[in-house]
Amino acid sequence: CGICGVVGSRQVQSVILEGLRRLEYRGYDSAGIATVVDGGIGRRRAAGKLDNLAALLEREPLPGRTGIGHTRWATHGAPSVCNAHPHATPRVAIVHNGIIENFETLRHELESAGQVFETETDSETIALLVDYHLRRGLAPRDAALQALKRLEGAFAVALIFADHEGLMIGACHNAPLAVGFGEGDMFLGSDALALAPLTRRIVYMRNGDCVVMTARGAEFMTFDGTPVERIAQITALTV
Ligand code: GLU
Repeated sequence: CGICGVVGSRQVQSVILEGLRRLEYRGYDSAGIATVVDGGIGRRRAAGKLDNLAALLEREPLPGRTGIGHTRWATHGAPSVCNAHPHATPRVAIVHNGIIENFETLRHELESAGQVFETETDSETIALLVDYHLRRGLAPRDAALQALKRLEGAFAVALIFADHEGLMIGACHNAPLAVGFGEGDMFLGSDALALAPLTRRIVYMRNGDCVVMTARGAEFMTFDGTPVERIAQITALTV
């Protein structure tokens, strides 16, 4: 039910956890974080309170300067560690808010293509669809755009990729997502409140926007890759 992402110049675990705490008001049943670690994907997930995730991260810290976090309000699949986001393959990790209406169609297609599902969620189809295109040899941006074009329903998503520290892709359709511009860091959040302590320079993404972020900035485009201009506003929110 909440998303927080950081492409940073520093370790992001605690920044993301703080962001998720600021999204707690939306309600949730489980939570998780994934980062790019040593060129692979690292992941920690916990059912229940954010304190459970925080305790897990204390026992098993997750290094990395590029990461995504999620608080889940289950719609498809029981609230459990297995169904908690991020959903990941060795190549990509994703978090998703909303509902993918056509996930059964996509799941059948992907299973026929040999992709193996581990969860009961609609969201895992996004991870396996992007993964399918990465395995075909597409670059992260192209793989993400190919996948986004197939999704129906309401979604805000954030993706990170193995071997691509410093890269994050976000997209939304009928669900809110905001991009925050920092000094040497970039942020993604479900709302400006999640990002309030980090930056006040915000772009509220529009329906059908995709954003490709690095620590240096952000490029906005439609799902067919056409560039669009989005100007950052200064929010009045203060902490
Ligand atoms: N539909 C997804 C799930 O059940 C995402 C729910 C959410 O927005 O937190 O996992």
